[in-house]
Amino acid sequence: MSSKDWIEKDFYAVLGVDKAASADDVKKAYRKVARESHPDHNPGDPKAEERFKAASEAYNVLSDSGRRREYDEMRSLFGSGAFRRNARGGGQPGGVPFDVSDMFGGAGGGDRRFGGAGFQDLFSSIFSGGQAGGQAAPRGPARGRDVETEVALDFGDAVRGVTLPLTLRAPGVCDTCHGNGAKPGTQPRTCPVCHGAGVTTRDQGSFSFSEPCRNCQGVGTVVEEKCPECHGSGGVTKTRTMNVRFPAGVADGQRIRLAGRGEPGERGGPAGDLFVQVKVRPDELFGRTGDDLTLSVPVTFAEAVLGTDLRVPTLDGAVTLRVPPGTPSGRVLRARGKGVVRRDGQAGDLLVTLDVVVPARLSDEARTALESFAEQTPPAAREHLDARVRRVS
Ligand SMILES: [Zn+2]
Ligand SMILES: [Zn+2]
Repeated sequence: MSSKDWIEKDFYAVLGVDKAASADDVKKAYRKVARESHPDHNPGDPKAEERFKAASEAYNVLSDSGRRREYDEMRSLFGSGAFRRNARGGGQPGGVPFDVSDMFGGAGGGDRRFGGAGFQDLFSSIFSGGQAGGQAAPRGPARGRDVETEVALDFGDAVRGVTLPLTLRAPGVCDTCHGNGAKPGTQPRTCPVCHGAGVTTRDQGSFSFSEPCRNCQGVGTVVEEKCPECHGSGGVTKTRTMNVRFPAGVADGQRIRLAGRGEPGERGGPAGDLFVQVKVRPDELFGRTGDDLTLSVPVTFAEAVLGTDLRVPTLDGAVTLRVPPGTPSGRVLRARGKGVVRRDGQAGDLLVTLDVVVPARLSDEARTALESFAEQTPPAAREHLDARVRRVS
C-alpha cells in the first residue's frame, strides 16, 4: 500500500467523527463501528468485514495522539484538497495545484515547511506499523492546523463592518505530559499484551483478523500513573481569544479566511489559517440583495392614486421618497446610496417596495364614499378574461 493510499483515506469519516473529536469520542465511535461490523455478527458479509478492517486501521492511527497529529498535519498540508485539484482552486495548501505523483515520486524534495525532513521521513514516521513506544524521529517545523469556526453577526454589523472578539476552543497537546498521558517523571510502558503493536490477531474460522488490543485500546503503550492534567488522554482543550475584523458588507453564508490565525505551528512552523463561516441574523425591517437593502412599505389606495411623500427609515437615518400620483402596487422606489457600502467606497441602494393595503373594515362614511367612487370609475380592464370565460363555459 502506497503512501498516497494512506493519505486518501479519511479516517475520521470511517469512524464517523469530527476532526476535532476527543480521544474519548474516537474510542466510542470506533467501538460502535466495530460492534456493528464485527464478523461474528455479520457472517459471510464482505462489506461488514471491510468496514470492520477499515475501522481498525483508522482507530490505529487516531487513537495514538502522536500519530493522529501527524496524520492531521499531513492531510492539512496535502490531504483531501490536493487530490481534488480541479474542484476548488483556493482551498488547497498554498493555493497552488500540484501533481500528486510529484510529491511521492521524488526523494523528499526539501519542502520549506519541513525544514530538513523530507516527505519520506514524514510518511515513514507516521505509518511505521504501530511500533509505538519507539521514539519518533525528530521532525522539522510543522504548519499549525487550520481552524473552522462559525460566527453570527447582527444585520447592521454585517452591513457596516465590525470587530468582534472570537473565542476558539480546540484540542491541543497536554503541556504537562507532552501528550503521552503519563504523570510527569513516569513513562508509558510498552503494552505487555500486544508488545507495542496496538493490535492483536485472532483466528476466526477460515480467516484471521486483527483488532485493536483491548489492554491498551490500540495505543501500544499503557500508562501506569496518569497525568493529573489530562487524566491520561494526552490531550486538553485549549482556549484562545482574538479580535477579528469583519469587513463592511460581509454577507450571510460567506466564509472568511484569516491567514495565520489558525493553530500555532510546531517547532517554528507557520501557523494555520482560521476560516470563519458567517451567519447574518435577519433584520426585522430590512432585507438584503447583494449590495442593495430592501424594505417593504404599506401605502393606502388613496396614497397610491393621489401620490404622497413617504418618510422611510434607512439603516442609519431616514429619507423622504416621492410617490407619484397613479403609482401601482408593487412599484419599487430607489433611494440611491442608502444600501451597503462596498470596499471601493461605492454604496448600493435602498429598494423600497410599495405595498397597497386593502382595509378589511370600513366605517359607514368611508363605505359610502367608496361606493360613490366606484360609480364614478370605469370597470377594471378584464375584457380579455371575460372572453375566455365565455368560450370555456
Ligand atoms: Zn496492547
Ligand atoms: Zn497530560
